[in-house]
Amino acid sequence: MIKKENYIQIQEQTQPTNTQLVVVSKKRTNEAIKKYYELGQRVFGENRVQELVDKQEALPKDIEWHLIGHLQTNKVKYIAPFVTMIHAVDSLKLLLEIDKRAAQNERTIPCLLQFHIAEEESKYGLNLERAKEILDTEEFSNLAHVNIVGVMGMATFTEDKEQVRGEFQQLKNIFDTLKQVYFAEKEDFREISMGMSGDYEIAIEEGSTMIRVGSKLFE
Ligand SMILES: *Cc1c(COP(=O)(O)O)cnc(C)c1O
Repeated sequence: MIKKENYIQIQEQTQPTNTQLVVVSKKRTNEAIKKYYELGQRVFGENRVQELVDKQEALPKDIEWHLIGHLQTNKVKYIAPFVTMIHAVDSLKLLLEIDKRAAQNERTIPCLLQFHIAEEESKYGLNLERAKEILDTEEFSNLAHVNIVGVMGMATFTEDKEQVRGEFQQLKNIFDTLKQVYFAEKEDFREISMGMSGDYEIAIEEGSTMIRVGSKLFE
C-alpha cells in the first residue's frame, strides 16, 4: 500500500537541505495515509477540494493539509477553515477570495504564487510580468489575511533532465527577483515548491524548499 523504503530514502535526500516533503495523497485511501501518519508524516497534499475536505474530516486533526492543485474561486470557502497552505495561486481574483474567506475564519492563509515554467501549454500559472502587475495593485497591498510565502511550479514532463533543470532554475530566478523587489524585508517569503516523483532530486539541487511527491510513495 505504501512504499516505506522510498519514504526513508526521500527523507535522507531532503535532510541536507532541510527540504520539506509534502506527501501527495490524492486518490489514495485514508488507510494508506494513516500508514504515513503512523511513521510521523504530518504534511499531505491534495489537488481536489472535495477530496481534501472529506479526508480532513476523516483523518487526525494535526495533519497539515496543502492544496497543491488549481483552485476555483467558488471553492475557497470549503477549505478556508483548515488549509495549511495553498500552492497554486495565479490570479488577483483568487487572492481576494482567499483573503475574504480567511478573514471570515479569523485566519491568515499562507499562499504560493504559481508560475508557468514548463514548455507544455497550460492555462494555469503566472509569468513574472503578470505577477508584478498583481503585486503592484493597491488591492494586493490591502490584503490582510493572505500571506505570500513563496512560489510554486511544475517542470515539463520529459526525460530531458537538463530541460527540467533549466525550468527549475527559471523558477529559482523568479523567486530571487520577487524576493529582492517585493519581499526583501519579509523573512517568511522563503518557499520554492518544486519537484515531484520524477524530478525531485534535480529540484533539490536547484534550491527547492518543498517537494511534492505522490506516485513514488504509494503502490
Ligand atoms: C499529483 C501532483 C504531484 C505529485 O506527482 P507525482 O508525480 O505523483 O509525485 C505534485 N504536484 C501536483 C500539483 C500534483 O497535482
